[in-house]
Amino acid sequence: MWTYHPELLATPVPRYTSFPTAAEFGDRVGERDYREALQRSAGDISLYVHIPFCEKICWYCGCNTAAANRKQRLTAYLDALHHEISLVGSLMGDVNVQRISFGGGSPNAIAPLDFVRLLDSLFVSFGPRAPDISIELDPRTLAPEWGQVMASVGVTRASMGVQTFSPHLQAAIGRVQPAEMIERATDMLRDAGVTSLNFDLMYGLPGQTLDDVEDSLRHALRLGADRIALFGYAHVPHMIPRQKQIDAHDLPGAQERFAMALFGYNLLRDEGYVPVGFDHFARPGDSLAQAALSGTLHRNFQGFTDDNAPVLIGLGASSISCFPDLLVQNEKNAGRYRMLLSQDRLTAAHGIARTQDDQRRGAIINDLLCRGRADIPDTMLRDALDRLDPYLAAGLCHWNVDHLEIPPEGLPYARSIAAAFDPYRQHSPRRFSSAV
Ligand code: SF4
Repeated sequence: MWTYHPELLATPVPRYTSFPTAAEFGDRVGERDYREALQRSAGDISLYVHIPFCEKICWYCGCNTAAANRKQRLTAYLDALHHEISLVGSLMGDVNVQRISFGGGSPNAIAPLDFVRLLDSLFVSFGPRAPDISIELDPRTLAPEWGQVMASVGVTRASMGVQTFSPHLQAAIGRVQPAEMIERATDMLRDAGVTSLNFDLMYGLPGQTLDDVEDSLRHALRLGADRIALFGYAHVPHMIPRQKQIDAHDLPGAQERFAMALFGYNLLRDEGYVPVGFDHFARPGDSLAQAALSGTLHRNFQGFTDDNAPVLIGLGASSISCFPDLLVQNEKNAGRYRMLLSQDRLTAAHGIARTQDDQRRGAIINDLLCRGRADIPDTMLRDALDRLDPYLAAGLCHWNVDHLEIPPEGLPYARSIAAAFDPYRQHSPRRFSSAV
């Protein structure tokens, strides 16, 4: 029931994991703004810890990560991270940490004991009572000790980078991980007490067919995935040089990509998964599905989330912290990140102050992407109407009294519809991925 309108998908749009997006960050925001935001924060917060290392670098990857092959570099990074945790914690008042997420990179590129030490530091510096702990994992390098450690510290949520189960596609994208390896990792995580397990899968890979997409989805279903994120691969080698290793001749075209996204949506919905936003799916009992069904879903730098803390503190090189009135990113370069911390300084390098207008527009974009509907004040409608018209005319969104609604048929166009309320998006479209 999705209709392909190539002209309405032609303009690349942001993923809107924040508003304003990271493309709007500048160096007028930095250390002092971050310090003040930390000092005035109180109440519920979440923590994100970035480990920018992987044992093996995948060719398609756009993350800020490097090979974990030099022990000294890894140790130096972890020392700096401990320092940052204690520095940031010392600046914050009475906060209640709801969640701690480890991402990367691959957090399991560090030793399990180093992971426990990081958690210890977080508990000492932020004093969380009983936070939800989640972790992103690379099944290729998931040693058995990780299961023991995760069980002992109470990790209940995990996400595995899988992308595809098809061996020929794994070879084409530089990420070889036989199905048995993923099965073993799944068993280990379940034994460790993980109750919410996400599989990241991709469509739009070079040489991929609908049969490949189905094969990967069925594998994930057989393994009992609680959540599935089905992303479109964005081939942008001019921005991500490691993607030059991928042969672009075999990349599916835009219409094929659209068909793959639709196929995945139909298959997962028919299998009883709840569509969450435009590219996530969750079993009805999972908290992400419940958030989608109850209208409490949010979007942050990790994608769709049921985390409703108003403040997210990013720790580690390139991490982004999010406050209602400020977005701020740590220094991306690991060497400079370490150097700043050696001087006892916060590493905030750039960001943006969110004006009242940004906050209002951010709420509209969040509502459209997470709830499929938003209240639009007249003042904002006037600016957006021209850009919305083609989507309204095609039935991809409609008015319901004073709400703008995106029906299921409009899901592939949700980011493009949301972009109508983004005043920064009038120019430089090349910086973003295609809408599907
Ligand atoms: S394991 Fe994940 S973060 Fe690391 S290179 Fe591969 S895709 Fe990127």
